[in-house]
Order: sequence, then structure tokens, then C-alpha cells
Amino acid sequence: MSTPNEPSFRESVDMMFNRAVALMDLPPGLEEKIRVCNATYTVRFGVRLRGQMQTFTGYRSVHSEHMEPVKGGIRYAISVNQDEVEALAALMTYKCSLVEAPFGGSKGGLCIDPREYDEHELELITRRFAYELIKRDMINPAQNVPAPDMGTGEREMAWIADQYKRMNTTDINSSACVTGKPTNAGGIQGRTEATGRGVQYALREFFRDREGVKKAGMTGTLNGKTVIVQGLGNVGYHAAKFLSEEDGCKITGIIERDGALTDPNGLDVEAVRHWIANHDGVSGYPDGFYVKDGSTVLEEACDILLPAALEGVINLGNADRIKAPLIIEAANGPVTAGADNILREKGTVIIPDMYANAGGVTVSYFEWVKNLSHIRFGRMQRRQEEARHQLVVDELTRLSDHLGDAWSMTPDFKEKYLRGAGELELVRSGLDDTMRAAYQSMAAVWHGRDDVDDLRTAAYLVAIEKVAASYRAKGL
Ligand code: GLU
Repeated sequence: MSTPNEPSFRESVDMMFNRAVALMDLPPGLEEKIRVCNATYTVRFGVRLRGQMQTFTGYRSVHSEHMEPVKGGIRYAISVNQDEVEALAALMTYKCSLVEAPFGGSKGGLCIDPREYDEHELELITRRFAYELIKRDMINPAQNVPAPDMGTGEREMAWIADQYKRMNTTDINSSACVTGKPTNAGGIQGRTEATGRGVQYALREFFRDREGVKKAGMTGTLNGKTVIVQGLGNVGYHAAKFLSEEDGCKITGIIERDGALTDPNGLDVEAVRHWIANHDGVSGYPDGFYVKDGSTVLEEACDILLPAALEGVINLGNADRIKAPLIIEAANGPVTAGADNILREKGTVIIPDMYANAGGVTVSYFEWVKNLSHIRFGRMQRRQEEARHQLVVDELTRLSDHLGDAWSMTPDFKEKYLRGAGELELVRSGLDDTMRAAYQSMAAVWHGRDDVDDLRTAAYLVAIEKVAASYRAKGL
């Protein structure tokens, strides 16, 4: 639990921002202009459900319009409030800037527990919320493009897109009004896995940075590292799955709402996910050890702590007991500003949220571009690429026929080389490139400046500098 001295989420973001701008030389006034949220729209609307009118409260906050459209998810949670939505919108500005997605920052939220409503009810609520935002241009392909976040997914995005189409029947770019749609409704392959995939690519790039690994007091590669994951939702599940299946990591702890599971030999992510889906929690899972007070597992020894659930889970109350040398913030704001100070003192390396979970908005950017260009990535090149590769393979075959068996190609090579990239491969390649480039821009500041001793400050410096440059270019 957080202590009374704990700043709110928005204050935490402001404090981290302030730490970074103190190291910059921004013109007077610009600092304030960048920090503040431009606007927050609060809507209260009624929906007739189960024979009576129910009133819901929703928000859409726009943090910075230095680039348009502004971008950011819509979350459904009972804890949603204005402070949180504004903090998340600010993080979106910095996140987009850092990964060079050409958007300003925005975020939306609806104060609702989605588990209390059936699908039809959720559709009515979502369409009504979308209607309220669309009629004020707070959902619009050129101005404000939402996406999934906690408690929402493809299904909600499809309803929002359809609602926009009904209200804008002649807008040829209507699909681009929201991202994270199902692939059969204008979505892009690889969007659902994108944030978790981005976490994996971020960790791979971190372990290529030998200086960074050394600063964390670690050695070696990702292979064999132990990981504790908090939250097996879309982000935590994909990150844990890819890290264990493709990088040789061991998932030694999974923390969920109703407790945690631990196993020093590694948990089977797919099996735990399946169990949660059928039993509404981890309790009763037959393998591993069950810990009722799940949050204590955050404090257990492991190489990598991967919080992928709520904000503020690592706070003044537990920061000094965190043992992991490396934390990757798959969630937004899991470490409060106070905890960040304590962990920095201890030498814990934190891969900050604005970078770590930027995979979602990066692939959202690809989806938006796909929608505006009205063509699937790879459609024009794929077969042509394959035909050119076939030429090389035919030539090599001719030569090896001549030179004998020792010179023949392995069937695996042929198969891999001949396959032209489809949409999923291109999306993953674009995401990997984005995550590598953004890491390198942060690491250059982290390792290159004596007055910067953490990745978060480095990330803010890089992100704010780009936002400031864009304001300067506009003459502001
Ligand atoms: N909700 C995600 C985030 O916090 C994705 C936003 C987007 O795709 O626009 O980054």
C-alpha cells in the first residue's frame, strides 16, 4: 500500500518531468507549456440498462497538440479519475515523441468495472461514450485517435470505429479514427501482441548494451534470467510468453488480483493464463506455490521485475525491499516518484514506462498509416521479393549441381530465404527497429552525460527535447 506522503500519479509524472527539465535549457514559459495538460473533457451520460437509467462518467484528456492527431488509449476501470487520465495523457506525449510516432498525447477513461456488464450492455455503453466523444471531434482520424488500454480491446475498438462510420458516412478515412481494431475490421496483424512484443525487444536491446547491463550489476544475456511478472493481462501475458518461449527466461513469479504463483523452476505461462481464464484468478492452480498476499512477491529475488498491471505498485511502502536489479515498466507509472528516488539510490536500473510499453502505440501508428493508405503492408512487394529470391536460389542450385552435394543448400535456408515478408513480419521488423533506435537514443544520454544517472531522466530529456523542437519550429 502507498504511504500518505506518496504523491498522486500526476504529481509523480510532473516530478519526473521537473527533474529532467532542470537539466535542460528551455526558454522561459515553454517548460510550463509542455508540462500542463491542454484540456480534459469530462462527460456524464446515461444508458438505459436492466430497466433503469444508469449514469457513467468518462474522460478524454489532451495533453499536447504539438502534433496532430493526438493519440492514446481508452481504459475501462472503476479507479479511473481525472488525475490518472491526465498523467497517462502526459506520458503518451513523451512516449510518442521518444519512439517518433508523429502524434501528440491523449488518454481516455471510463469509470466502470467492465466485468459487471454483459457484452450487449458494454456495446451500448461504449457506443454512447464514443458518440459523446465523436460529436466533439475527440475521436477523429485527423485529430484524436484512441486505442485499447486496460479493460478494453479489439471488440471495443470495433464498436467505436463502427459508431464513427455511422456518424461520418462520407469520410473515406473513417477506419483511421481508432487503432487496435480486429484485423477483419481494418486492424493490423501484430497489434494485440505489440506492447508485450515491445517489452521483449526492449529487454533484448538492453542486454546488447553492455554498459547498461554492467550498471545494473548484471552479466550475460537474457537467456536463463528469472522474471517476476505482475499482471497476466494482454501486456504481461505476451511479454512473459515471448520471454520464456523465445529468450530462455524463467518466469519464477506471476502476481494476479487474487494472489501470486511462484516456482523457482519457472511457471508455464500458457497454462497459468488458461487457468485464470477458467477460474477467475490464480488460486487453486495445481503447479507452483500459491501466495495469498501477492504483492509481497514483488519483493522476492529475481533478475527482472516486470510490473504489467496498475500504477503505483512500487511505492514508498515497499521500494527499499525490492531486490530485482532490473525493473521494466510494462505498465504505465508502476513506480512512484518517491520509490524511483529510493531505487535510483540503490542502483536498481529501471527501464521506464514511456519506452518499455511504447510497442502498443508504435504498432498503432502502423495501423493508422495502413488505414490512411488503404492497403495492407507488403501487398505490392511480397511476391516480387519472392521472385527475386527465387532467382538467387535457382542460380545457387545450378552451381551446386555442378559442384556436387557438399555445396548444396540446406532445405531450411531455401525455405526461409524464399519467404517474402507479410504484414506480420513487417510490423515486427518496424517495431524492433523502433525499440532499438529509441533505446539507443536514451542510452546515449544515460552513458554520455555525467549529470544523468538513470534511463528515465534520459528518456524524458530525449522526449522533451523533441517536443520543444516542434514548438520552436512553430515559432512558439
Ligand atoms: N494504451 C496504449 C498505451 O498506453 C496504446 C496507445 C495507442 O496505441 O494509441 O500506450
